[in-house]
Amino acid sequence: MSVDTVSLTGWGRTAPTTALRFRPRTYEEAAATVRGCGPRGSIARGLGRSHGDAAQNAGGSVLDMTALNRIRTIDAGTGLVVCDAGVSLHRLMEVLLPLGWFVAVTPATRHVTVGGAIGADVHGRNHHFSGSFSRHVQELKLLTAEGEIRTVRPGTDLFDATAGGLGLTGVILSATLRCHRVTSSWMSVDTERTVDLDDLLARLSAGDHRYRYSAAWIDLLARGRATGRSVLTRGEHVPRYALPARARRTPLAFRPGQLPVAPALVPEGLLGRTSVALFNELHYRSAPRYRIGELQKLSAFFHPLDCLPHWNRIPGRGGSVRYQFVVGHGQEETLRRIVRRISRRRCPSFLAVLKRFGEGDPGWLSFPMPGWALALDLPAALPGLAGFLDSLDEEVAEAGGRVCLAKDSRLRPQMLAAMYPRLAEFRSLRAELDPNGAFRSDLSRRLSL
Ligand SMILES: Cc1cc2nc3c(=O)[nH]c(=O)nc-3n(C[C@H](O)[C@H](O)[C@H](O)COP(=O)(O)OP(=O)(O)OC[C@H]3O[C@@H](n4cnc5c(N)ncnc54)[C@H](O)[C@@H]3O)c2cc1C
Repeated sequence: MSVDTVSLTGWGRTAPTTALRFRPRTYEEAAATVRGCGPRGSIARGLGRSHGDAAQNAGGSVLDMTALNRIRTIDAGTGLVVCDAGVSLHRLMEVLLPLGWFVAVTPATRHVTVGGAIGADVHGRNHHFSGSFSRHVQELKLLTAEGEIRTVRPGTDLFDATAGGLGLTGVILSATLRCHRVTSSWMSVDTERTVDLDDLLARLSAGDHRYRYSAAWIDLLARGRATGRSVLTRGEHVPRYALPARARRTPLAFRPGQLPVAPALVPEGLLGRTSVALFNELHYRSAPRYRIGELQKLSAFFHPLDCLPHWNRIPGRGGSVRYQFVVGHGQEETLRRIVRRISRRRCPSFLAVLKRFGEGDPGWLSFPMPGWALALDLPAALPGLAGFLDSLDEEVAEAGGRVCLAKDSRLRPQMLAAMYPRLAEFRSLRAELDPNGAFRSDLSRRLSL
């Protein structure tokens, strides 16, 4: 097992902290690391795609799980896969697609591990249809604070605390996943341009049930009558028989392209208001007003950002903050007010996405609840950002909504109980399971999880 001392950040590249990084290759090595962790405890880490400090542990141990990456069994008849927690969704897609299976839920990047996807209970564009990642987990193996391996199944408190539990109930070693049957690696995509936020909400409410996947990019710099204008894209897997003749020759091929790596030093001003406003204008205008049935590769539809490695360098040295919140149906006025406030403040966010979530998930700290979820990226160095986002948190909490902890890097602990009503149960299960605090992270210390 390799061990080194490293400075780590999340994908947003803010608040680096130093930890002893262990890279176990076997379950026994992982257990030995947990048993031997010092007073600062340990935390599992996947591919570090969570935005903030969820997979960091200042002065303690971090278990890099990416060497535990075996796909153990695949039942090609039922789509049940047993794999180590360090396997990436990218790898699963490479192996599963030729067999006619696709992961049931994928976030907007496929460079996440199965352990990270359960630890953050990630959602995809199909939340209204399929719920979050953990809903498709049949069983998992969890390494506890005593170094024991427990089999954990849905419907138990330990499962519900672990799904979205940010690595704080133990280290997930492996999982059994149910996959989704597909007969091609192509998507049929419908695109619509909406003139403002109300237009978008109306179209999502009226038509989302007809699509498995749906998400809208929002221009948060548009003002006045255009506030909240957006490009809505919704899609379905294309059945093999409906492909054009050329694509039908290799219907299940998975060959995502890659652009050159983003430069290490990007000029600081690149994400200023003017350049983002220009980008947004071009992006909005170049999208079709209405187009149906466009054929897209699966990787282009789900993971367009993955074609540019290290694109998190684009916000420059200061890094970025990802803010994602959800408010319930009936709280549209809060959503409108927040969008207006962001747009009036001229926040340079080029990556803003709105989704309509379906039923909530059983995970005690799972983020999704039925309603409207908005995610945006902002340069961390934006003047007055902390106070502004704190005031948005207050609006979100007052409306009965919550912010996503896996993306968070700045929430104040006093907001947490209102946002996550099962927090007390989570804390008490942790106190019982792990009285000496073997599992800790920068995020758990910051929010007293
Ligand atoms: C470009 C981009 C797009 C994204 N899109 C979405 C999206 O659409 N939907 C969404 O929900 N999220 C999205 N995310 C966030 C990302 O999917 C999650 O943060 C995910 O958890 C990252 O997985 P990871 O393997 O990198 O885990 P890490 O970031 O390394 O860890 C995330 C959390 O999981 C825990 N963890 C990791 N491995 C284990 C393990 N083996 N056992 C126990 N706990 C573990 C960690 O302790 C930590 O708390 C996006 C991120 C990026 C960068």
